[in-house]
Amino acid sequence: MLSRNCDRGEITFDQIKDMFRLMTEHNGLGLAAPQAGINARVFVTAWGQVFYDPQFRLRTHLCWSEEGCLSIPGVTIKVPRWRHVLLESGEWFHDLKAFVIQHEYDHLNGQLISHRYAWSAGCLAESSR
Ligand SMILES: [Zn+2]
Repeated sequence: MLSRNCDRGEITFDQIKDMFRLMTEHNGLGLAAPQAGINARVFVTAWGQVFYDPQFRLRTHLCWSEEGCLSIPGVTIKVPRWRHVLLESGEWFHDLKAFVIQHEYDHLNGQLISHRYAWSAGCLAESSR
Protein backbone atom coordinates (compact mmCIF):
# COMPACT_ATOMS: atom_id res chain seq x y z
CA MET A 1 0.00 0.00 0.00
CA LEU A 2 2.73 2.48 0.92
CA SER A 3 4.85 2.00 -2.15
CA ARG A 4 2.33 2.13 -4.92
CA ASN A 5 0.29 4.70 -6.75
CA CYS A 6 -3.14 5.32 -5.27
CA ASP A 7 -6.30 5.18 -7.27
CA ARG A 8 -8.48 8.25 -7.03
CA GLY A 9 -10.60 6.05 -4.83
CA GLU A 10 -13.43 6.83 -2.53
CA ILE A 11 -13.25 7.93 1.04
CA THR A 12 -15.90 8.30 3.70
CA PHE A 13 -16.28 11.00 6.31
CA ASP A 14 -15.50 8.40 9.01
CA GLN A 15 -12.27 7.42 7.26
CA ILE A 16 -11.23 11.07 7.16
CA LYS A 17 -12.01 11.37 10.87
CA ASP A 18 -9.82 8.26 11.44
CA MET A 19 -6.99 9.90 9.51
CA PHE A 20 -7.19 13.03 11.69
CA ARG A 21 -7.19 10.83 14.79
CA LEU A 22 -4.15 8.84 13.63
CA MET A 23 -2.27 12.02 12.71
CA THR A 24 -2.99 13.58 16.10
CA GLU A 25 -2.06 10.41 18.01
CA HIS A 26 1.34 10.39 16.30
CA ASN A 27 1.87 14.17 16.48
CA GLY A 28 2.09 14.24 12.71
CA LEU A 29 1.87 17.36 10.56
CA GLY A 30 -0.03 15.44 7.94
CA LEU A 31 -1.33 12.00 7.07
CA ALA A 32 -2.07 10.47 3.70
CA ALA A 33 -4.86 7.95 3.09
CA PRO A 34 -2.49 5.06 2.17
CA GLN A 35 -0.84 5.44 5.60
CA ALA A 36 -4.21 4.59 7.12
CA GLY A 37 -4.66 1.67 4.71
CA ILE A 38 -7.06 3.60 2.49
CA ASN A 39 -6.56 3.57 -1.25
CA ALA A 40 -7.56 7.14 -2.14
CA ARG A 41 -5.73 10.28 -3.27
CA VAL A 42 -6.54 12.19 -0.10
CA PHE A 43 -4.51 13.63 2.76
CA VAL A 44 -5.19 15.63 5.89
CA THR A 45 -2.97 18.22 7.55
CA ALA A 46 -2.38 19.44 11.10
CA TRP A 47 -3.88 22.83 10.21
CA GLY A 48 -7.21 21.07 9.62
CA GLN A 49 -7.35 21.06 5.84
CA VAL A 50 -8.34 18.03 3.74
CA PHE A 51 -6.82 17.73 0.25
CA TYR A 52 -8.59 15.67 -2.42
CA ASP A 53 -6.31 14.65 -5.26
CA PRO A 54 -4.46 18.01 -5.31
CA GLN A 55 -2.41 19.01 -8.35
CA PHE A 56 0.47 21.46 -8.46
CA ARG A 57 0.24 24.37 -10.87
CA LEU A 58 3.53 26.00 -9.89
CA ARG A 59 6.50 25.17 -7.66
CA THR A 60 9.39 27.55 -6.98
CA HIS A 61 12.56 27.90 -4.89
CA LEU A 62 14.03 24.46 -4.40
CA CYS A 63 15.57 24.01 -0.96
CA TRP A 64 16.25 21.36 1.70
CA SER A 65 13.75 20.24 4.28
CA GLU A 66 14.49 17.94 7.20
CA GLU A 67 11.56 15.59 7.57
CA GLY A 68 10.31 12.64 9.51
CA CYS A 69 7.51 10.31 8.55
CA LEU A 70 4.98 8.39 10.61
CA SER A 71 5.66 5.43 8.31
CA ILE A 72 9.42 5.48 9.10
CA PRO A 73 9.46 6.09 12.88
CA GLY A 74 12.50 7.70 14.48
CA VAL A 75 14.18 8.75 11.24
CA THR A 76 14.63 12.26 9.86
CA ILE A 77 15.97 12.78 6.37
CA LYS A 78 16.96 15.90 4.44
CA VAL A 79 15.01 15.99 1.22
CA PRO A 80 14.76 18.53 -1.62
CA ARG A 81 11.49 20.48 -1.54
CA TRP A 82 9.94 23.54 -3.13
CA ARG A 83 9.44 26.51 -0.76
CA HIS A 84 6.40 27.88 -2.57
CA VAL A 85 3.68 25.84 -4.25
CA LEU A 86 0.53 26.85 -6.05
CA LEU A 87 -2.21 24.26 -6.31
CA GLU A 88 -4.77 23.94 -9.09
CA SER A 89 -7.30 25.26 -6.55
CA GLY A 90 -5.50 28.63 -6.74
CA GLU A 91 -4.16 28.41 -3.19
CA TRP A 92 -0.52 29.22 -2.43
CA PHE A 93 1.35 27.47 0.37
CA HIS A 94 4.76 28.43 1.71
CA ASP A 95 7.60 26.92 3.73
CA LEU A 96 6.44 24.31 6.27
CA LYS A 97 2.93 24.03 4.84
CA ALA A 98 4.36 23.65 1.34
CA PHE A 99 6.72 20.93 2.60
CA VAL A 100 3.91 19.04 4.34
CA ILE A 101 1.79 19.13 1.18
CA GLN A 102 4.66 17.80 -0.95
CA HIS A 103 5.44 15.11 1.63
CA GLU A 104 1.84 13.89 1.76
CA TYR A 105 1.44 14.23 -2.00
CA ASP A 106 4.44 11.93 -2.39
CA HIS A 107 2.63 9.30 -0.29
CA LEU A 108 -0.20 9.31 -2.85
CA ASN A 109 2.36 8.35 -5.47
CA GLY A 110 3.97 5.66 -3.33
CA GLN A 111 7.01 7.84 -2.58
CA LEU A 112 8.53 7.94 0.89
CA ILE A 113 11.23 10.40 2.02
CA SER A 114 13.72 7.54 1.76
CA HIS A 115 13.04 7.45 -2.01
CA ARG A 116 13.48 11.23 -2.21
CA TYR A 117 16.76 10.89 -0.38
CA ALA A 118 18.00 8.26 -2.83
CA TRP A 119 16.98 10.60 -5.64
CA SER A 120 18.81 13.61 -4.16
CA ALA A 121 21.91 11.52 -3.44
CA GLY A 122 21.77 10.51 -7.10
CA CYS A 123 21.64 14.16 -8.12
CA LEU A 124 24.63 15.01 -5.94
CA ALA A 125 26.62 12.13 -7.37
CA GLU A 126 25.62 13.33 -10.81
CA SER A 127 26.68 16.94 -10.22
CA SER A 128 30.03 16.10 -8.57
CA ARG A 129 31.26 14.30 -11.68
ZN1 LIG B 1 5.13 10.51 5.59
